[in-house]
Amino acid sequence: MLEVKNVTKVYNSGVVQFEALKGVSLTVAKGEFVAIIGPSGSGKSTFMNILGCLDTPTTGKYYFEDTEVSNFTEEQLALIRNKKIGFIFQKFNLLPRINAYENVELPLVYMGLNSKERRERTLSSLERVGLREWARHKPAELSGGQQQRVAIARALAGDPPLILADEPTGNLDSKSGEEVMEILKNLNDNGRTVLLITHDLEVAANAKRSISIQDGLIIEGGVTSG
Ligand code: ADP
Ligand code: ADP
Repeated sequence: MLEVKNVTKVYNSGVVQFEALKGVSLTVAKGEFVAIIGPSGSGKSTFMNILGCLDTPTTGKYYFEDTEVSNFTEEQLALIRNKKIGFIFQKFNLLPRINAYENVELPLVYMGLNSKERRERTLSSLERVGLREWARHKPAELSGGQQQRVAIARALAGDPPLILADEPTGNLDSKSGEEVMEILKNLNDNGRTVLLITHDLEVAANAKRSISIQDGLIIEGGVTSG
């Protein structure tokens, strides 16, 4: 499903250059659940931005479902993101003025689905995370764990083949965190590919495979180079 080949990322700030990724390779098959583990500053977010088609590598190649996307324009990347990837972030990123139902529905509006289809998908996504009864509540009326579950429902609504979760339990107490991880495991059991980015080994243990990143290099696990 995903293939990263010898990718580097160099940030230029003024005259100073910093190589945040120093040549990483990774292959992820359809249906895998992979954790990417690394301490703060290791290059996790940089890698996640590339994997999530939020940014492109400086050198190296990235294939998303056999399409090379490493030289895509921002517009082309946005199309891949909208169709293929459900994002879950540490900060839930819900819109505060609209309710859970509307937060989940919004990306479907942008996808151009008709209202019947939107309603079906929104309700089934909320159902899936156990929040059907909370549809009319605004984010501030929900617990952190519930807000993250709304964010998961939103990520699912468009039925993307890939779920990318960046520190999804970072703002949650341990019980809510476990609930969120159970949902991710369940989604994976139902055939979705899940990528989890975390610094927390206990959280990473929920994945079926882990790779570690340090100082911009993959240092152990699942590397397939060349
Ligand atoms: P992590 O997510 O593991 O904390 P990051 O990928 O955010 O790591 O950062 C890796 C390194 O790249 C850090 O040293 C960080 O300071 C640097 N870095 C990240 N983003 C930028 C940027 N936009 N400009 C310059 N340096 C950056
Ligand atoms: P519209 O299609 O014009 O948005 P709806 O009746 O579908 O009108 O929705 C109006 C609002 O009511 C939605 O934005 C949502 O907040 C809420 N809503 C609609 N259907 C449901 C539902 N089945 N469960 C909970 N809330 C709902």
